[in-house]
Amino acid sequence: MKKELTKEEYAKIRYKRREAACFIYYRPADGQYYIGKIKYGEPVSGDAQASVYLGSSLPVENGVPKDAICITTCHTHTPFLDGSFEQEREVGPSKGDYDYLKNGDESNYGIVLDYVGIHVADKGDFVFPGHSVTDPPQMYIYYNNGRKADKYSFID
Ligand SMILES: [Zn+2]
Repeated sequence: MKKELTKEEYAKIRYKRREAACFIYYRPADGQYYIGKIKYGEPVSGDAQASVYLGSSLPVENGVPKDAICITTCHTHTPFLDGSFEQEREVGPSKGDYDYLKNGDESNYGIVLDYVGIHVADKGDFVFPGHSVTDPPQMYIYYNNGRKADKYSFID
């Protein structure tokens, strides 16, 4: 029998997206960096804001050696695939990302993987609803001390 979806089921599964995140560690004993367990946020659809809860940074809860020191976090932002919405999303670290850093000291920084976006004069860089999931990505390093975020492109 042919599988059918009700309107409600269809709305539930279309354009689902979620963020992923992990802690990053440095271990002086061997001079190596370690990546903690990858955590995933709740899948969302439409123009809902995605987020991810990182939980504890304790090495033992993240599968890294217990003498590794947590130095930062890394998370992803999602594409914005549903073209039926009218609001764009600014790329790069969000207000929530900066708020998270404020829990620590001024030397705190974070890493987010997002899109390069499209520049809008006097406004900033944005992704628009319905853009391509394969649009050029960019890594942003953002700081708790007021320093402007650094951007690292993966394309030449
Ligand atoms: Zn974020």
